[in-house]
Amino acid sequence: MTTQWKFLGKYILQGKIHCQTGLHIGGNTEGFEIGGMDNPVVVNPLNDQPYIPGSSLKGKLRHLLEWNLGKIEKKNPDKENETYGPHFCGKCEACRIFGPANNEADVREMAGPTRLSVRDSFLTSKSVTELPQWLGEGIFTEAKTENAIDRVTAVANPRPIERVPAGAEFDFTVIFDVYREEDRALLKHLFTAMAMLEDSALGGGGSRGHGVIAFKELKAEWRSVEYYRNGTSAKPVSVIEKKAMKQIVSDFKVEDWKV
Ligand SMILES: [Zn+2]
Repeated sequence: MTTQWKFLGKYILQGKIHCQTGLHIGGNTEGFEIGGMDNPVVVNPLNDQPYIPGSSLKGKLRHLLEWNLGKIEKKNPDKENETYGPHFCGKCEACRIFGPANNEADVREMAGPTRLSVRDSFLTSKSVTELPQWLGEGIFTEAKTENAIDRVTAVANPRPIERVPAGAEFDFTVIFDVYREEDRALLKHLFTAMAMLEDSALGGGGSRGHGVIAFKELKAEWRSVEYYRNGTSAKPVSVIEKKAMKQIVSDFKVEDWKV
């Protein structure tokens, strides 16, 4: 039997990602100039400003939700050094929200269309103004020198890492598509992953204190299928406004999202 998927509308979630500590999302070192930073951050080539790729944020949220749901397991538990493999059951909330990460037709059919799209997050206009005031004209990042201690010789090997400084903010947008009434309840799992991210880290060096972020100034609206067909107005979902992520999770009631 084939499941019937019918597009009902989209939730548009927006807010700010506030960097509590320096953020390092690695960029491309290929072709990097000699004498340049060997650990650069990813930048928008149009304006040289750092950004958070949607794929980085989406990947981290998926990973955290898989841990939360107990979906991360070793494929071969006997192999000591094996890394955790990608997960794709097609049945769980992570697969439905983030996509099944698998091309097998039956797994894709079970999971249905990927519900979540994560846009690239760019610096807020305030940070575009403020960062060069702190760092120097045209500069949006800082170099942090870290000492990697050789565990055998105990010799320090200092290496600079480029970071977006603490205090910087990015505008973020995620879009959550609804294809069945039950999909709305999946939002709670997305918020759980976002709450977990605030106690985890984004980008590299999380275990050394980099990448601590907070979601701020959240707002949401519902754009029904009629919004796209007839230009009907979008409807705000005010329940998440002025709330911290963990509060949004603990207060979540699916009725509040049926606006
Ligand atoms: Zn799954």
